[in-house]
Parts: sequence; structure tokens; C-alpha cells
Amino acid sequence: MSDGAFLLKSTIQTYPWGRVGSGSEVALLANGNDASFDIDENTTYAELWMGTHPRGANRIVPGDRLLSDWLKENPQYLGSKLRQRFGDTLPFLFKVLSVNKALSIQAHPNKAHAEILHAADPAHYPDDNHKPEVAIALTEFEGLCGFRPLHEIFSNIKAIPEIQNAIGAATYTRINESKELSDEQKLKSYFTAMMKCDQSVMETNVESLVKRVGLLDVNSSEYTRLQGELLCRVNGQFPGDVGCFSIYFLNHIVLKPGESMYLEATLPHAYLSGDCIECMACSDNVVRAGFTPKYKDVDTLCEMLNYSGKTASENRFKARPHPSDPYVTVYDPDIDDFTVSKIELPADVTDYSLPLIDGASIILVIEGEGRTIEPLSRGSVLFVSANQNVTIAKSNGQRMLMFRAYCQL
Ligand SMILES: [Zn+2]
Repeated sequence: MSDGAFLLKSTIQTYPWGRVGSGSEVALLANGNDASFDIDENTTYAELWMGTHPRGANRIVPGDRLLSDWLKENPQYLGSKLRQRFGDTLPFLFKVLSVNKALSIQAHPNKAHAEILHAADPAHYPDDNHKPEVAIALTEFEGLCGFRPLHEIFSNIKAIPEIQNAIGAATYTRINESKELSDEQKLKSYFTAMMKCDQSVMETNVESLVKRVGLLDVNSSEYTRLQGELLCRVNGQFPGDVGCFSIYFLNHIVLKPGESMYLEATLPHAYLSGDCIECMACSDNVVRAGFTPKYKDVDTLCEMLNYSGKTASENRFKARPHPSDPYVTVYDPDIDDFTVSKIELPADVTDYSLPLIDGASIILVIEGEGRTIEPLSRGSVLFVSANQNVTIAKSNGQRMLMFRAYCQL
């Protein structure tokens, strides 16, 4: 093993919302990462983890040591800037997700709020860190992200009596006719009232809307306006759940491979389906409010959310080309914790030097083959120390696609 760059054994999480067997990109990559890993066709493979998080800590392939232990003894390989900013640890967790059914509607607190939540309720908020996330589509990837433009939400509520019932008819009228409330305050009031709706009232109204949509011609404009396909699908996954009505509040975003969304603090979101690369700050702080059997903290969620509306396209995150490498695209949100780059080598490139980075990074190979000191192929995970030059001798005649997580400090 070289101290500069070595292979890691990734870990997997088999949450029930994951894609099944070899239909899961996570399973296929895990199989490529470790030849002894057999795919079980009845298991849901949800997440592949790369990094040092204690619930899925990676091991170094030669020698089988934990990467976290090795970094504790050899922190110089993290790079001095990264150590100064974050201490002797990798500040990010790098993942692949394969989503078969909706994940919980959630938002993440900002750093200051995370500190308060953790101090008050450490059982539900296990650390004091923020948890910004970026998701980059590997296959067509679908999610709910951010509130829609406010006029769109208000006209949805006006047009769908079942949502008014979930808000409460009298409450709806009071908010709608209020002269004092700003539009954002109105949205907050509507959304909070709906999230607090009695479960049996919610079930009755979701059922009524689903029934009504079921009678519509799927080609009718009303079916499209009511997002009939999406409503029936999420109701099939979580019958009668408040999340079914959240589709009229949140943007429905469908990303093509390479497109991304950035889930900054207080932005409501839920992943619905598809495979993606995800990178996040090391934290488990999630405030959930729907599509989940887990603990819901509706008061905290409704209080903290960003209620300014944006369109679906405004909620897409824009990547930029690397300043000097034509094969690299950079996804760099305005936080220090992580940056992700996509490295896409065309078929005719044979020798390629990775951009030099002054902090530690992790590279995942999605497609193609090559070699550094180590052989690289689909599913390979390479740890690269700070300031380490890495040259890849790539097999000719095929494209190579990789993603790299690091800190841009
Ligand atoms: Zn999230």
C-alpha cells in the first residue's frame, strides 16, 4: 500500500426504501468494489458509503485497517488546510443512493440551530453539526425540493378542497382573508396547519382526492394539474400520509444524469426515485415530517423552514467547468465541508493526471477501467492523500466516469 493513494472497501446500508437486488446501482457498485460480495436478489440495497462515519467506516483494502484509525495515526495525509478547518478527520461523507420509494420529507438545521437542537434533545439530534447535502443524478433521479413559487401553492390550495379540509376550513378562510400576514407567513400558516392535521382527517381527504383523480382521464389537463401519477404513486407507498399533499407545496424535480440539487439548511426535500451520488457534511441531524415511520418533529420543522418560493429550475444546482481540466465538472456549494467533481474521460484518452488537490479526497469509479498503482474499475474507491499526484493509465476505447469528493478551502 502506498501512503499517497490506496483502495478502500466501501460499506452498504440495506434500508427498506432501497432498490432491490441487481436493480440497485449500490449493489452493482458494491459487487465491483469487493469481488467476495454477492448480490442477494431479495435485499434492498439503499446506500453505499465512502468515508469514516462510524456507522459505515471504510477499511483500507490491503491490511484491512479502518481508514479512520489510519488517519488518526497519519493525519498529515489529510492536508494542513483541512486539518486547520475541521481537525484530524474527514469532514464529509460520500455516498451512492439507489431509491426505490420515497424517503422522508425532511430538512436539515443550520450549524447554530443544530447546536441548540443537540443540546436540548440529543436523542433525536445526535450531533451539533449542520448537514448540507448535494445530490447528483446517476440515472434519472426524482425528488421534491424547496417550496414552489407561492402563487402556485396558493392556487393549488384554492383548487383542491381536500387540502383546505386538511388545513381546516375555518383556518383556511382566516389565513386566506388575512390582511396582516405576508405571503410567506400565509404559506407557513397553511403548511403548519396541514402538517398538524389529525391523522384520520388526513387519511379521509387523501383517499377522497386519490379517488377523484382515479376517475379522471390520464390525458386530461386536470389529471396533469393534480399530478395524478405522482399522487397515486406516493399514496401507494404511504397511504393517507401527509406527504401525499406535500407534492402540491414542493417542487417536483426530475434530474437527468449529471444534473444536481443542493439541499442547503432549512430547505424542505424528499428523494422519490433513482440513483444518485450524494455528498454531505458529517452529521445525522434530520428533521422529518412525512413519508416516514420515524420520529417526526413537526413543530421544529415548520418553525425552521425556508418559506420563500422558487421554481423547480431555480432549485437545480448549477455545476461549473473546472478552470483548467476539460474533463472535470465541479459541484461546489458555498460551504467548506465538501465539493464534488465529476471526471469524465472520453474513450480516446489513455494517460490522465488528476487535478492536484491540497486536501484528502475520495474517488469512486462508476464506469470504465484503468490503473494507478492500483487497478481501477467499476466500484473501485480510491483514497488520495493531500497534494498527491495521481496518474491513471486508462484502458483505451472506453469512457471512464468517476466522482471525487474533497474540500475546496
Ligand atoms: Zn436530506
